[in-house]
Amino acid sequence: MSMGSTLVSDHKTIATGVWHPPHSNREVPARLVDIGGSLIVVSIEEGEEDRRLVWGIRSDIEISPRVGSIPRRIVFGNESLFETRDNDAIDTYLRGRGEGRSGLIHGLEIVRPRLIGFALAVVVLASVIYRYALPALVEVAVLVTPPVVPEMMSAGTLKTLDQVTFGPSKLPEAEQTAIRDDFARIAVNAQGGASRYHLNFRDGGLIGPNAFALPDGNLVLTDQLVALAGSDKEMITAVLGHEIGHVEYKHSLRQLYTAAGVAGLVLLIAGDVGSGVQDILTQGGGLLALSYSRQAEAQADRRSVELMLTAGKDPAALSRFFDLLETKLDDHGKTSMLSTHPGTPERKQAILDYVRELRAKGDQPSG
Ligand SMILES: [Zn+2]
Repeated sequence: MSMGSTLVSDHKTIATGVWHPPHSNREVPARLVDIGGSLIVVSIEEGEEDRRLVWGIRSDIEISPRVGSIPRRIVFGNESLFETRDNDAIDTYLRGRGEGRSGLIHGLEIVRPRLIGFALAVVVLASVIYRYALPALVEVAVLVTPPVVPEMMSAGTLKTLDQVTFGPSKLPEAEQTAIRDDFARIAVNAQGGASRYHLNFRDGGLIGPNAFALPDGNLVLTDQLVALAGSDKEMITAVLGHEIGHVEYKHSLRQLYTAAGVAGLVLLIAGDVGSGVQDILTQGGGLLALSYSRQAEAQADRRSVELMLTAGKDPAALSRFFDLLETKLDDHGKTSMLSTHPGTPERKQAILDYVRELRAKGDQPSG
């Protein structure tokens, strides 16, 4: 007897069966032996008893799950295979190692209800926070934000856009002045007065026809939007009125804080924030990537109607802009105002309804 065979016989036989050498159908009668956590297969073939056929550590060995009375396959790292019909013996061995289940399929059945319950609890908790706590937190955050924050955000955004896509406006001076004058007439009645708002003309470049407000009261109007409006100058003023609404209601700050809150929730659930969310929070240009909520758009639309009406201009002028969006901006895809200002036909109708409502109110005292 050799030293090796003495060692083997000292250790525990798990099960008997047959061993297939790597990539071979040959069957060698063998037994599976546990040596301090490692598994070896030794031959029980006559004249070859206790010859070690293969050795492996548990993590390199795959044990097939128990499926009825189908023989268990124990696959070693060298792709040799031990096969046994003694399913109970394998289960006993696995249980003894704290791998207590008879296989992956069994295991899933045990774990699943608990896992689903946990996942459900997290989702419910997250949606409760999102629905009730987050809006309140956002309001508080907006309230306590010092003016320097929107100023920095705005300066960063405009600087980024100027580097990436904007160019100096090619609009004739006279046309710029005319638009500025009309704008001043509605801005004077806006929160903070005319001096709170500053109109910037730019060649939109990749962004194309667009108008947007930065949270500090800087508004940007692209040459392409002016060109799109053509002779309808009132429509441009109405669009700027809409943007004033976004500033007054602090929509971009709210949107940003909501995104930050959502990022926090994602972090809580997934343990990681997607890079998209991170971009929104860290890059100045991210302000533009945010689209306002439907509710925010409706508020800004109504503000345009009010400001236009107060200034003695056509309060329904903004609705004409939506006609334009529908007919002319189909091919501008993601950079168009459609993506940052969604929901066109409903909004047009809501504007017309609000105009009627305000006019009816205005008529009442005199009539
Ligand atoms: Zn808007």
